[in-house]
Amino acid sequence: MLKKILLSAFFLGLLALAATGLFWNSNKDEKPLCGNSVCDERETELLCPEDCNDTAVNPEKEETVIETNISAALPREITVGSNPVAFVSIHLEPGSNANTADYPEQYWNDLIDLIALADEYEVHLTLSMNPQWSIYILADETRLTQVRGWEAEGHELAYHGHGPHRDTWNGYTNQSEFQSDKNFLGTIAEMMDLMEQVPSSGHIFAACVSGPEDTDPDWPTNVSVRTDGGLEPSELLSTPVQETHNGQEVWYVTNRQYAINKSSATLAEVAEGISAWQSGEVLGIVFHEKNYAEHPDEVEALFKLFQDQNVQVEGVSSLVYSIVGQF
Ligand SMILES: [Zn+2]
Repeated sequence: MLKKILLSAFFLGLLALAATGLFWNSNKDEKPLCGNSVCDERETELLCPEDCNDTAVNPEKEETVIETNISAALPREITVGSNPVAFVSIHLEPGSNANTADYPEQYWNDLIDLIALADEYEVHLTLSMNPQWSIYILADETRLTQVRGWEAEGHELAYHGHGPHRDTWNGYTNQSEFQSDKNFLGTIAEMMDLMEQVPSSGHIFAACVSGPEDTDPDWPTNVSVRTDGGLEPSELLSTPVQETHNGQEVWYVTNRQYAINKSSATLAEVAEGISAWQSGEVLGIVFHEKNYAEHPDEVEALFKLFQDQNVQVEGVSSLVYSIVGQF
């Protein structure tokens, strides 16, 4: 009898130890990304220099698995019916000081509200980020989990690049004449290495790179969809057309400004566009995080119009892929 009791106590002890181990592990996973002296696969030297400099422990550096996955990756699969299809690209700006994440921090809560509003109307947004937003998201595990939750609900993560020819440059370029500039932060490959740590797929499929001089030299590798435009009424509707940027085949669709300024499309113009839409076309809308913060009612009116008119609003690369069938 005593032997049995002792044996049971021994196994209970083992169980308790195992449970402690599990608990400890799950807590470990919730630690912040940077500052644990380990440069894991989601970290880069730019993002977490304290973990990823030459002397830091770096067990994942030799991994090339991500590379192989990327070439086979495709955007989130969607089913498109006979209703009009649209995308809404939110340009997330770098702010006036690209060396900091001050700007994303300022508008972070507005972005959370915008996503909640979009969810209410079953609108799937395309979140076109300057890298400052990726840096801000990756710096905090809670934010990263939140963004991946948005992605799981159907919102798409994309790249928006303010190149060195823009008034507010995001600091990244392939153009050698800007690489000695004090505001230079890295090459486009280094930037994408950082940004593609945000989506759970490890891949960004769509981009809007501006200004026009920057689009070609700074087009990122393996990004298959380009969005651009805004001022011309005709840019509300487009059929994907193939272009070549930085040696890559890219599908181009246009979008029209909404709620930005007096040159933006009115709600009535968007409604006309929905009526004029034909199969094979996409209706494209673009505005900034800031425009939502300043005009939430205008944005809600747009989402309501989409819902009332049975417009299917999806991430731009999912939509383009559903039309062209190949990347
Ligand atoms: Zn912009």
